[in-house]
Amino acid sequence: MTAFRCVPIDPAIAERFRATGRDDGGNTLRRLAADHPSPCRVCLRNAQVGEPVLLGSYHLPRPRGIYWTPSPIFVHETPCAPFVASDTIPEIVRSRMVSVRAYDAADQCVYDLGHAGDGDTIDAPLALALADPRTAFVNIHTAKPGCLLCRVEAG
Ligand SMILES: [Zn+2]
Repeated sequence: MTAFRCVPIDPAIAERFRATGRDDGGNTLRRLAADHPSPCRVCLRNAQVGEPVLLGSYHLPRPRGIYWTPSPIFVHETPCAPFVASDTIPEIVRSRMVSVRAYDAADQCVYDLGHAGDGDTIDAPLALALADPRTAFVNIHTAKPGCLLCRVEAG
């Protein structure tokens, strides 16, 4: 399989959320106790039921333009270690239904590389998307609500 890295959101954004209480859309963050395994976009682990989390709107850096979208995200309320492992699909992807969305260097969605399925079974479709010469990056979203989980880059 092509070497890859699952990339969390910039930890500075989570720090800004925690410090200001505001999200990327200017909304007041919701401070919650997780009521389900809630995917933290910094450490890429599930906050367990009862753990304090922040819920806010994250403005994705890419894709830009026509495919750009904001996404609701959870982050741990207290600082957590950003995910850094290589060639590893993180817990928040493995543990739910996900969609794989590939984009080219011009931020065009490469539809034929898209995939939706159980996170435990995305190794092959993810490898296919990353190995395709058209692919600049891949975003993985939750399959049901469609929220961004992480970006994936080759190498
Ligand atoms: Zn976390």
